[in-house]
Amino acid sequence: MTDLFLLPGDGIGPEVIAEVKRVAAALTPDLTLDEGLFGGIAYDTEGAPISDATLSAAMASKAVLMGAVGGPQWASAPRDKRPEAALLRLRSEMKVYANLRPALCFGPLADASSLKREVVEGLDLMIVRELTGGVYFGQPRGIETLANGQQRGFDTQVYTTSEIERVARVAFELARGRRNKVASAEKSNVMESGLLWREVVEALHKRDYADVELTHILADNAAMQIVRNPQQFDVMVMDNLFGDILSDISAQLTGSLGMLPSAALGDPGKPGLYEPIHGSAPDIAGQGLANPLAAILSFEMALRWSLDRAADADRLKAAVEKALEGGARTRDLGGEMGTTQMTDAVLAAL
Ligand code: NAD
Repeated sequence: MTDLFLLPGDGIGPEVIAEVKRVAAALTPDLTLDEGLFGGIAYDTEGAPISDATLSAAMASKAVLMGAVGGPQWASAPRDKRPEAALLRLRSEMKVYANLRPALCFGPLADASSLKREVVEGLDLMIVRELTGGVYFGQPRGIETLANGQQRGFDTQVYTTSEIERVARVAFELARGRRNKVASAEKSNVMESGLLWREVVEALHKRDYADVELTHILADNAAMQIVRNPQQFDVMVMDNLFGDILSDISAQLTGSLGMLPSAALGDPGKPGLYEPIHGSAPDIAGQGLANPLAAILSFEMALRWSLDRAADADRLKAAVEKALEGGARTRDLGGEMGTTQMTDAVLAAL
């Protein structure tokens, strides 16, 4: 079984994944790597943004690491052939229902945040967002025309016990390997699905995770607390819609898009999907300017959560911090370094 299946994709995707390969060669030379075409380049070469063969190979690996997909040249491709369609297909076939979005503020970058240094320095927050249910998928949905000529748009927010339980389980498990705290955010005061969410999380906690500290927080208050005092949180878990919004707010606490990794996990033993949260950045693609750290930190998450290599992950995270402390900065961080130089600094720190 391949350890890590790489999907470099388009734009800066191949540039940052090339840097991950250099890091893997130095840190974990025994890992087996394979890769496939993904996104616009796959459409141009193979006629589909992800081929069945690539999909099967990805699903048969322990972890999948993606670069980025998309670009203006594919904007007019048929909807089901667009690069984004490959991403949706991959996520849905891999059945990854828990999206992990860490907000990590490395000390040397604290001044890049829009918040005060003392609020964000050393921040290590993990948002777990439910990814495959809720209002983005619930039926019925649509826009209908009423008898009086007005239109009515509607979506359905819906969650079942098992959908809530499995994502909450991921949050509790993660917390045990961290500071042992989970905050579950919902709107149980005004939404029935929020009430069920709260009850299911509470029951699971009592049954299997009583050793973890659990708090419930209303999602609107969570938004305020994340910008007021984010360090009060360790792991936060929430539905798809609140997670979409609150994970973007928390991401912004840490500065640049070029620094942010993510993971999507399914059932234990199934491969996880890892990806930087940035896109293909067509404006800087091919110029050697992209910050490779979001991709390198996505690899760090794969080592930790899918490849059972926590010690290597710790070493890599420490090396990134040391490189930043030593002044390594790409242009998005206000420096002059190019993509490979940034990786050189991480490798030197390793
Ligand atoms: P983007 O994330 O690609 O870029 C936004 C801005 O951030 C750009 O100025 C870019 O240069 C900069 N940036 C992004 N990553 C960087 C990095 N690693 N280092 C330095 N600077 C970086 O978002 P966009 O411009 O809105 O989208 C461009 C394309 O990417 C679109 O086709 C979009 O659909 C696609 N996209 C893909 C994904 C994905 O693959 N998961 C996510 C978002 C957007």
